[in-house]
Amino acid sequence: MSHEHTTFDIACRHVAENERAILYVWRYSDGQFGMSCGHDDHPEISSWVTLCRACVVKKLPEFDIMEQLQPLQEAARDNPDQREWTVGAFVEEE
Ligand SMILES: [Zn+2]
Ligand SMILES: [Zn+2]
Repeated sequence: MSHEHTTFDIACRHVAENERAILYVWRYSDGQFGMSCGHDDHPEISSWVTLCRACVVKKLPEFDIMEQLQPLQEAARDNPDQREWTVGAFVEEE
């Protein structure tokens, strides 16, 4: 079903292209989410893409953890099979 794309979040390309599972999710003070595969190989701005929130929800079973996250919180897990996420404080860069 098509929808109007709204509320863009940020994801690394691995996640956006379903290459890797999401191991790290964070939330900015404005409510926007970021998510990545948890690896460090995203040195360039081109390693990141924006995804519409509704597209993310459709695509990612991990959305339940996103619903729990408040702004300036982050959640991480060690592997895709892990159901428990470790939630902590997210420090926003200036
Ligand atoms: Zn969309
Ligand atoms: Zn990645």
